[in-house]
Amino acid sequence: MMIKDNLQCIHNEIMHIARKCDRDPSKIKLIAVSKMKPCSAIELAIQAGQLAFGENYVQEGIEKIQYFRQLNMNLALQWHFIGPLQSNKTKLVAEHFDWVQTVDRLKIAKRLSEQRPNTLLPLNILIQVNISNEQTKSGVTPDELLPLALEIIKLPNLTLRGLMAIPKAETDPNLQRIAFDEMFKLYDNLQQHIKLDTLSMGMSDDMVSAIIAGSNMVRIGSAIFGKR
Ligand SMILES: *Cc1c(COP(=O)(O)O)cnc(C)c1O
Repeated sequence: MMIKDNLQCIHNEIMHIARKCDRDPSKIKLIAVSKMKPCSAIELAIQAGQLAFGENYVQEGIEKIQYFRQLNMNLALQWHFIGPLQSNKTKLVAEHFDWVQTVDRLKIAKRLSEQRPNTLLPLNILIQVNISNEQTKSGVTPDELLPLALEIIKLPNLTLRGLMAIPKAETDPNLQRIAFDEMFKLYDNLQQHIKLDTLSMGMSDDMVSAIIAGSNMVRIGSAIFGKR
């Protein structure tokens, strides 16, 4: 596996697109999605300079976090929970992760805030938006976004940083752009009410369209670690 080369390729691509859009490439953050990949693969990515990782499954993610903690590497690493989150798992997530990108209801947010240990910094939160309105996907509707955001900012142990979306998979870049442009509008609107700095959208197959639309956090799995 050429993890180091893949990372270099993605960084080059981000740089290239950012320049074309007149944006600062250093403001576009790359999250390496390591779900279903072993710690040895994550280690190769770390050696290549990658420090932020995304995990979808609570137990698997925590095992990896603990592995790197025991190697004393966790201070430098940043762990993003990016999978669906049930309320019986919030405590584990609040105790181990740095970010949760998939918050879509107040009940989950309240539990995360209550269960976040005081010894840790506030948990960084993104609200997930179901931008393509798919039955099978989690996320708030655009109408639900502002009311939820206004409640989340009251919670003491959370910091609301922005929005996340997983639009319906499309191969045509023009179709990809529709959902991403809508997300950018929602983000831009919400910023009139609340200070935010993160719009997480774009995966291996739609990263370019997401960045053109204004994403500043891309979550890339298979293009770094290979097929799952
Ligand atoms: C798996 C996953 C990714 C990465 O997907 P790739 O297509 O492998 O880049 C990004 N975001 C979320 C929420 C995921 O579940």
